[in-house]
Amino acid sequence: MDPAIVRLEGVVKDYGEGQVVTRALAGIDLEIRPGEFTAVAGPSGSGKSTLLNIVSGLDRPTEGRVFVAGEEITAASGSRLSELRLRHIGFVFQAYNLIPVLTAFENAEYILMLQGVRPGERRERVLELLAQVGLAGMEDRFPRELSGGQQQWVAIARAIASSPALVLADEPTANVDQGTASSLMDLMARLNEERGTTFLFSSHDRGVLERSRRLLTLTDGRITGDTAPDADAAQ
Ligand code: ADP
Repeated sequence: MDPAIVRLEGVVKDYGEGQVVTRALAGIDLEIRPGEFTAVAGPSGSGKSTLLNIVSGLDRPTEGRVFVAGEEITAASGSRLSELRLRHIGFVFQAYNLIPVLTAFENAEYILMLQGVRPGERRERVLELLAQVGLAGMEDRFPRELSGGQQQWVAIARAIASSPALVLADEPTANVDQGTASSLMDLMARLNEERGTTFLFSSHDRGVLERSRRLLTLTDGRITGDTAPDADAAQ
């Protein structure tokens, strides 16, 4: 068994063709163990989103191999990839990505429905989760009737409702106020500690990055730093 939940070997990602190729990732080797709480830092354009999209299987690398939960996703068919993603990965985007015609409840319930969880159990889990993130009483609101911060809570609820082993979050606090950002980090840290959920998230925010236990720095598509902020602070 692969001890890593995420493994990248020699991952290169090029966008475009011919003379206008952009090398977004320039050879990434990375291993993430179950239960890690890892942040990815780096300036805009350094490859953070590309890295998360490739780990999630939303995008395929130009070169190299990607393994999630011991399975090579770069070798998986489209349908196998969807199944793996559905079973193991929760994804939080910076722009919420809620389905506009579904209510908060229905958005949060969506992944559980795809997984075939029974309606009674779905309802119980989603109501509890929405209450936990401060959205009790707002279950029937549509995304446009919620603030940005509230929409991000729904997006987080959707990502964690099925208790995935791995949660990927691309700048989850980019569009919310500082109080919400801090509460979002509290919830992620609690899930990490209590359930052992592995988190890999990107951010620009120093306060958010400092909450990580492992901090990767990307520069021009390469990992140029791999440190442990907690350990540094303790020295
Ligand atoms: P970050 O998340 O750190 O801001 P990205 O992963 O979004 O960085 O982008 C890395 C590089 O790849 C940038 O130069 C960006 O312009 C380029 N890039 C990202 N997505 C695309 C795309 N779909 N088509 C062309 N270039 C892209």
